[in-house]
Amino acid sequence: MAEKVYDFVIIGSGLGGLQCAYILADHGFSVCVLEKNQQLGGSLQVFSRDKTVFDTGVHYLPAMDEGQPLHSYFKYFGLTDSVKWKKMDSHFDQISFDDGSKFHHASSWNEFKKSLIADFSKEETAIKTYSETIQKLVKTFPLDELEYNEKDHTDNAILELSAKEFIDGLTENEKLRAVLTGSNLLYAGSAEKCPLYIHALVTNGYVQSAYRCVDGGSQLAKELAKRIREKGGEVLRRKKVIGFELENEEIRTVITEDGECYSGLKFISNIQPKVLLQLVGKEHFKLSFYNRFQKARNTLSSFTVHIVCKPNSFQYLNHNVYHHTTNHVWAKPDYSESEWPLQFMLSTPASSKSDEFAEGISIMTYMRFDEVEKWKDSHKTIVSPGERPSEYEEFKAEKTEQLLKAVEKRFPEIRDCIQSIHASTPLTYRDYIGSDDGNMYGTEKDFRKGMANFIAPNTKIPNLWLTGQYLNLHGVMGVTISSIITCSQFLDKKKLLERIKNAQ
Ligand SMILES: Cc1cc2nc3c(=O)[nH]c(=O)nc-3n(C[C@H](O)[C@H](O)[C@H](O)COP(=O)(O)OP(=O)(O)OC[C@H]3O[C@@H](n4cnc5c(N)ncnc54)[C@H](O)[C@@H]3O)c2cc1C
Repeated sequence: MAEKVYDFVIIGSGLGGLQCAYILADHGFSVCVLEKNQQLGGSLQVFSRDKTVFDTGVHYLPAMDEGQPLHSYFKYFGLTDSVKWKKMDSHFDQISFDDGSKFHHASSWNEFKKSLIADFSKEETAIKTYSETIQKLVKTFPLDELEYNEKDHTDNAILELSAKEFIDGLTENEKLRAVLTGSNLLYAGSAEKCPLYIHALVTNGYVQSAYRCVDGGSQLAKELAKRIREKGGEVLRRKKVIGFELENEEIRTVITEDGECYSGLKFISNIQPKVLLQLVGKEHFKLSFYNRFQKARNTLSSFTVHIVCKPNSFQYLNHNVYHHTTNHVWAKPDYSESEWPLQFMLSTPASSKSDEFAEGISIMTYMRFDEVEKWKDSHKTIVSPGERPSEYEEFKAEKTEQLLKAVEKRFPEIRDCIQSIHASTPLTYRDYIGSDDGNMYGTEKDFRKGMANFIAPNTKIPNLWLTGQYLNLHGVMGVTISSIITCSQFLDKKKLLERIKNAQ
């Protein structure tokens, strides 16, 4: 029997891989998605402990009210009605500090301004200028508004603005500055590098509206896979890509760990570009192209504690809490051991079992990969259930205790609610996502680099393209836009956007 040749072979079933597969299958192409894990979805994966479901990488989603941008994209992907959504409180993020002060980010720019002006009455001008500037800036990113433009990105003059310089320029009030950037864990921006557009796109998305997936974000991946299959595509799990066969400098076949081969006309990679290029082979790329990806600095990784709550012990919070020890809320990659954790984000996953009490609590903070580097040779996932040394488990227990002590300052009752407690480290993220360092949000962006922060979807190999969070922007919205950018390499972008807007 002749070997099957797919129109597209897609490596990785993160949100970006699945969205590209869906779009291409919807346009009549044959697609095959290869995923190394047991569970599809990359950072959309969930896990459960004591029958409590925890998200690993998506705690809430932006702009999901009817007619808002992510809602319109998700309508096309069939994700608006088939997934259980829960709208978060109008005060969807609480920003709190060790000094006992608490503030809010509120849904809709009017409410956002009103809530902050109530807390900072002397800062009305700064708050209004902030809101207006952010709204104006995001309008220069056409795909964030589902608008067609030949260019995917805005001008360098905007890309080269620093978030910290902009915010510091608005006000001398240290607390207001901290509150405006209080949900920094969402984009891991450092004070020295974070571009204003990253802060603006992320903040604007959630100010439009904030939603949680009830019973976990993995529904998004499951639903997308179902729809890809309905359109004739294949989505295969436990298929780790370990090599590539090239002919005349084009990829013909990928090889998976189980010895199978998948041939295609075109290939899209949803995995970390650095790892992809190593798998394809340095010799197939110009050294400058190869090195650009090998040397790129990534965003910080995270340490997350997941608590299974004793029944009816901790109130379900329909908002997130971003808590900071000081007014320096920016990501600090060179934090010292003694000051860690400088901040945390606490969220209670939405469950169909109760609206009143939380079944679980997730608490996330930053962690550098070098903290776990000495155990880098250990690997552990469902598919490859290796061992971690006991020293690593002790490290996890110590860090869990350190984080809990910080959380107790804000939630003194937390220890009484614990039925069981579980932690994930940069190694967990590395192993489940297949990145080299478990980074949260792909490559670190630097406002000084302007346009060079973006990675083009095409590579030096004519039939190999990239998609996912490394390209454009991380997060569900950023990755969705990357999928449009990647698929526009094969489809008419204008028509694709029309099709998305007209989806019923
Ligand atoms: C802790 C954390 C919290 C977050 N919170 C939010 C949030 O609240 N809201 C939000 O919008 N975003 C959030 N994000 C970001 C968001 O989850 C990601 O930006 C997005 O899901 C990344 O999608 P992706 O398409 O780039 O693929 P990824 O999720 O990176 O998936 C890549 C896939 O490729 C697979 N793969 C890797 N190597 C191979 C191989 N060799 N062969 C086959 N398959 C392979 C992996 O197993 C994985 O499934 C969070 C991320 C993290 C880490």
